[in-house]
Amino acid sequence: MNKIAKFPLIENQYPWMTKRPYNAYKDFLRSRFGGRLQKVCVDAGFTCPNRDGVKGFGGCTYCNNISFVPPYCKPGMTIAEQVSDGIEYLKRRYKAQQFVAYFQAYSNTYAPLPYLQNLYEQALSHPDIKGLVIGTRPDCIDEEKIAYLAELAKSKYISIEYGLESPYDRTLKTLNRAHTFQEWVDAVDMTANRGIHICAHLILGLPGETREQMLRTAEIISRYPINSLKIHHLHIVEKTALATKYLRKPFPVFEYDEYVEFVAEFLQYLRPDIMIQRLAGETNPRHLIAPRWDVRANIVQQDIEDEMQKQNVWQGKRYLLSENFEKRAIV
Ligand code: SF4
Repeated sequence: MNKIAKFPLIENQYPWMTKRPYNAYKDFLRSRFGGRLQKVCVDAGFTCPNRDGVKGFGGCTYCNNISFVPPYCKPGMTIAEQVSDGIEYLKRRYKAQQFVAYFQAYSNTYAPLPYLQNLYEQALSHPDIKGLVIGTRPDCIDEEKIAYLAELAKSKYISIEYGLESPYDRTLKTLNRAHTFQEWVDAVDMTANRGIHICAHLILGLPGETREQMLRTAEIISRYPINSLKIHHLHIVEKTALATKYLRKPFPVFEYDEYVEFVAEFLQYLRPDIMIQRLAGETNPRHLIAPRWDVRANIVQQDIEDEMQKQNVWQGKRYLLSENFEKRAIV
């Protein structure tokens, strides 16, 4: 693979970004931990305020958590047991040696702090666990929880993934996210500069968003102090409100080649220091209605990389240009 040497800022500040046309999080992790860092998924039995009635009922229109929870993840077991079982499984399967506990399903900060402390500390007590990755909603965090996580971050790797999906309030409303873009901004601001890694989560191809709006999403989130980004295309998953809508009246979803080409452009508008954790998602085919690409996420990622190499483009290539764009209203 060619060394990317066209963007000196990247070469100097992000030395792990020399193999790919984008700033890959996994390369950063190898650089920081000296090897692979494997996520062990745990299910702490949380729900979320968009399901239990505090913010809404029924959840986001696309959400079916069952579709992506790995088989070794069993919510009936304690966190310590899940971590231990998961590590044994992943050591056998991937020969990994270093792990982080991934609190993935639902909203993993949605409980009083003492309850969270017990769960997180069970995970951290395993000697092979280097840290925590915590997925949550931006309206499920507060200063007390951030202060606790910031303290943990002095000795462990702590990452929070804030679901955003779209920076457009109109889209968030259509998805029944039951939070606003400003709430995401407030959560990110509260978390920034505390030693905690901040990851944002976006879905591309949401109903009602134009190509131009999706490209602007890259510029918009580049203004906020996030460290990494997870992107995937919209999946229509069975037993969701979106599936009902889609089956009644199908709407356009990304074709494979279209998605590869789009992401290659999207990344050019993204701030170059934002690390890319994921460029495609996977849903168990048993639960997936559309789009049916039947291509594994790592192949999608490789095809995006190849497309960028072919076009001679890289993450952030147009970012400096885009900074001069007129700041339009984010609605
Ligand atoms: S996507 Fe997240 S916030 Fe939305 S309903 Fe599912 S668990 Fe709750």
